[in-house]
Amino acid sequence: MEARDRVGGRILCSSYHGYDADLGPSWYWPAINPGVGKLIRDLGLTGYPQYDKGYGRFQTPDGQARTIPGYPMEPEGWRLSGGMITLVDGLAQRLPKEVVRLHHPVCEMKRMTDHVEVRVEKAGESARKVSRRIRSSWPSRPVWRQPPFYLPRICPMS
Ligand SMILES: Cc1cc2nc3c(=O)[nH]c(=O)nc-3n(C[C@H](O)[C@H](O)[C@H](O)COP(=O)(O)OP(=O)(O)OC[C@H]3O[C@@H](n4cnc5c(N)ncnc54)[C@H](O)[C@@H]3O)c2cc1C
Repeated sequence: MEARDRVGGRILCSSYHGYDADLGPSWYWPAINPGVGKLIRDLGLTGYPQYDKGYGRFQTPDGQARTIPGYPMEPEGWRLSGGMITLVDGLAQRLPKEVVRLHHPVCEMKRMTDHVEVRVEKAGESARKVSRRIRSSWPSRPVWRQPPFYLPRICPMS
């Protein structure tokens, strides 16, 4: 269940005149995230080391362009060809279509003895779903710290 109209969360890429830009997370570090490197290979994606020689330019909030010396990463940071969104797309393609439910902001999870009740609420409408098991992308301790209820801060969304 995903609150937004798209999967990927903070991973967000935008295309402009044929160039892909990562607007959220951009780098992974194969040396310290071997699992990510393996996942990328398993999905048939390709990465490349971040070019970090020379100078970098960025725009300050007042519109000024500033030039700074490049800042090599240690260990080396890698980028994904086609942007991080290729990772999201690759994972999403592995799931049956009906599994992903967009526009489903979860507002409440209630742990019962043999099942979990999940309340989804949007624009004043509320729906209750029942599941034998739940896997949440929220950190598990805060979610279940106050059994049987947990109300994520994001709720309600319109
Ligand atoms: C600008 C920026 C740059 C970054 N750069 C890097 C980087 O280079 N390398 C790196 O490793 N990390 C980077 N990060 C950190 C990285 O983005 C996060 O660690 C990572 O995205 C967290 O993934 P997540 O799935 O836990 O959360 P998210 O990506 O935030 O995904 C959470 C998902 O849950 C959904 N959701 C939330 N509440 C509810 C609800 N109540 N009901 C239903 N759905 C809900 C959200 O809509 C979202 O889709 C960066 C972050 C930002 C913002």
